[in-house]
Amino acid sequence: MSLPRLVATSLSKGTLRTGSLRPVLASAATFSTSTARSAEVPHGPQVPHLRTDKPEEIYKGVSLVEHSAQALLITELFKGAWVTLEHFFRPSFTLHYPAEKGPLSPRFRGEHALRRYPSGEERCIACKLCEAICPAQAITIESESRDDGSRRTTRYDIDMTKCIYCGFCQEACPVDAIVETSNYEYSTETHEELLYNKEKLLSNGDKWETEIAANLEADHPYR
Ligand code: SF4
Ligand code: SF4
Repeated sequence: MSLPRLVATSLSKGTLRTGSLRPVLASAATFSTSTARSAEVPHGPQVPHLRTDKPEEIYKGVSLVEHSAQALLITELFKGAWVTLEHFFRPSFTLHYPAEKGPLSPRFRGEHALRRYPSGEERCIACKLCEAICPAQAITIESESRDDGSRRTTRYDIDMTKCIYCGFCQEACPVDAIVETSNYEYSTETHEELLYNKEKLLSNGDKWETEIAANLEADHPYR
């Protein structure tokens, strides 16, 4: 008797008590064992709506026919050749770095730079907002007042080995003086080479000014 019919009969007769659950549980165990066995058949194709007590034999038969057809028609060979042919005419996914480089967002946060105005005057007014907001405490600034009353930095250091490239310094700067350029190729051999001072940062700004200005312009509508 099937499990649902056994339960229905027990319910209709009012005999579904603790003792009568034993055949129900035994039937459930048999049912789940046969289901698990049919699911364990290895490597064969899935045959839907299978109605048989010996599914392994049907699986073996289908598998034998399929393997024989594959061996005779060498379908695997043609499938492999087709994949090769598809990739032959597709554009290559590989970039030949460093000759080729992928596109970068205008918001890419790379090496730092200090910018100047077109007159050559440095933008930084030594307000120290960048130093205050830097979560890594990577920026060190010292300043003094000039004879004309303006204030400028006498020291602007960034420890690039502390920097986490969060971009907070760039966001905090009221005059767009400190920026992160799109340059990511500045690996060094020593730690000291990554301790940037004001001269290094200003020279970075001079070198990348065209790209920096273009990136700020592209990002301007979203700021
Ligand atoms: S990017 Fe972030 S961690 Fe790096 S110097 Fe600027 S504020 Fe500091
Ligand atoms: S770089 Fe900008 S935020 Fe930092 S001290 Fe200079 S003006 Fe102020």
